Amino acid sequence: MSNNSKYWIVTDLDGTLMDEDYDISPARKTLDTLAELSIPVIPCTSKTASEVRYFRKENGLFDPFIVENGAAVYGCNQDNLSEWELILGKSYKELRIILMNISKIVNYNLIPLNDLNESQIFDLTGLSDHGIKRALDRQWSVPFLNPPDEIFEEVKLICKSYNVHVFKGNRMSHLLSSQSHKGEAVNKLKLYLDNKDVKIIALGDSQNDLPLLEYADISIVVPGKNGPNKYLQNGIEQGAFRLANAPHALGWSNSVEDVIKNIYY
Ligand SMILES: [Mg+2]
Repeated sequence: MSNNSKYWIVTDLDGTLMDEDYDISPARKTLDTLAELSIPVIPCTSKTASEVRYFRKENGLFDPFIVENGAAVYGCNQDNLSEWELILGKSYKELRIILMNISKIVNYNLIPLNDLNESQIFDLTGLSDHGIKRALDRQWSVPFLNPPDEIFEEVKLICKSYNVHVFKGNRMSHLLSSQSHKGEAVNKLKLYLDNKDVKIIALGDSQNDLPLLEYADISIVVPGKNGPNKYLQNGIEQGAFRLANAPHALGWSNSVEDVIKNIYY
């Protein structure tokens, strides 16, 4: 990736570029167009580095990637064999202890994904054996089963005193250091690549994308089949976020085509 790109597409994966079956095929053509235009596509996801490495390989992406909800950023070195790494967060081990402490305070058992057995993880994620191994390779965040909304709100408040925060994704919630979120990770990447003028075109679908959408120059909310996520509604109503005209990869594709048309043609 060149250091003087004018635009970066920074995109969430689950629910945004991918539908619930992890399909991205409606965005295929647009991804090819972006490659032709040399516009980097930077995944920015709650997934692990292992999962995103696999995803990039499958889909022919080569640009840097942001994982575990912004807790770490990776990219290939010039030799294409090794990777550089930026760490923003606290370790899994440290966060896990904090999650257990919060569980006690709210008197509700917050269950880490990594504590479930394979068949429970399959029911939740639909992932294969290899997919599950990659998903469990957590370093800098702790995903846990979504608690009821009122417990989630309580957890959010308690997090402050532990210097951590929580985000709710589609399938799970995530605990991570308050030093790290998707917006901050993009900021760190800009500094690392010495490209502070690059314009960020961001796409997301859930509460964990809020810091990314707030940070970006052009912010696109990709709706699900039942419309946009309630945590992103406000930004849409205020006119800060655009709303894609279809769910998942199709909406992603339509919105990105629309933006690049305005930039390049
Ligand atoms: Mg998502």
